[in-house]
Amino acid sequence: MISDRLEKIRKSLPPHVTLVAVSKTKPTTAIQEAYDVGQRDFGENKVQEMVEKADQLPKDIRWHLIGHLQSNKVKYIAPFVHLIHSVDSIKLLSEINKQGLKLGRIIDCLLQFHIAQEETKFGFELSEVLELLDSTDYNNHTNIRICGVMGMASFTEDETQVRAEFKTLHANFIQLKNVYFKNADFFDTISMGMSGDFQMAIEEGSTLVRVGSTIFGGR
Ligand SMILES: *Cc1c(COP(=O)(O)O)cnc(C)c1O
Repeated sequence: MISDRLEKIRKSLPPHVTLVAVSKTKPTTAIQEAYDVGQRDFGENKVQEMVEKADQLPKDIRWHLIGHLQSNKVKYIAPFVHLIHSVDSIKLLSEINKQGLKLGRIIDCLLQFHIAQEETKFGFELSEVLELLDSTDYNNHTNIRICGVMGMASFTEDETQVRAEFKTLHANFIQLKNVYFKNADFFDTISMGMSGDFQMAIEEGSTLVRVGSTIFGGR
């Protein structure tokens, strides 16, 4: 049962780690079941699916957008999204800021890093992020708040490689913290780890794990 699987994972997590239950492709009944045993953070990777589910479910759910986000769709989630994990361009960040401005809302975001070997995964290189954080465009944004970093490791059985990728993301976080966010207590999130690798991600410094199939079953 969903509640049993959730409970088991929760018990295994250190108190500083947030569990986001990734409910993509799963029905609202499954989300409600998790909600009923206290789960409040849920992750979706598609805008339309998140909007439809948010509409039907309790309003105190914290919705996390974890999939690639197109700029023209930001407006649909801007009024309610809790955290956008997948910011991968300055263009997207500017659009989030614009929508936040319209709503009088500061929207929390993570910068997605490309840490995997696969070409297909989205995300910044460190040099691009340094450039972004130095840019006047970024520094004029009043309605976004960068709360940390996100990354997806390679889809591989090679634990040494996955661990090295998590270490890279952690090191990037530390560098950004030291250079740009030293006194910013909101810059505190390292979103890494999924069903197959979240224990290792926590060992490597994750503060937020995104777990889907281990809670809700396979997709
Ligand atoms: C689907 C997804 C997850 C959860 O994956 P599981 O292997 O089912 O735990 C985590 N992060 C992102 C970005 C995803 O798209």
